Amino acid sequence: MAAGRRDERVQVIRDEDLLLALLNSAPIIDGKQTDSLEGAAGAEFAHRFGGTGSKAEIAHLQRVRDALHEVVREQADPGTDLGPLIGGAILTPEVTPGGIRWELQAPATERLAVRAAMAWSDVTREMPGRLRPCANTECNLFLIDHSRPGSAKWCSMAACGNRMKVRTHAHRRRDR
Ligand SMILES: [Zn+2]
Repeated sequence: MAAGRRDERVQVIRDEDLLLALLNSAPIIDGKQTDSLEGAAGAEFAHRFGGTGSKAEIAHLQRVRDALHEVVREQADPGTDLGPLIGGAILTPEVTPGGIRWELQAPATERLAVRAAMAWSDVTREMPGRLRPCANTECNLFLIDHSRPGSAKWCSMAACGNRMKVRTHAHRRRDR
């Protein structure tokens, strides 16, 4: 799979790293779903992406994350399940000779979550089908596939790719 390893980034969406970090903040560790936004780590997460780190902000991020999980897994309707969570956001135009810049206005507690939701929207529109759950059903992580063939399946080769390959191989050997 040498071709897939070449870093041919098709496109990078603004706040894509925030979106992916948020989606991947509820990893399954030792068979149990965890939440890396709990406690001090949640505030750190918010600070890393320019948030305030308040309890209300983290709680909102968790709600939007859970909604995005279901939306990406096609288990929820974005309009009814994600829409109300970002309803406080307004975009206002700043018109300059260089073009129009859209300024996001949202309550401080909702700003980061709105940015993540906007990134979800951009990724979904600009790169349809490229944001998907890891193919390991015992994994709760997501990936944005930038590979040219668009065939990436795992959150990471190290965490899930190799493990699943070993398992498939073991099954095949048993079937013989
Ligand atoms: Zn995975």
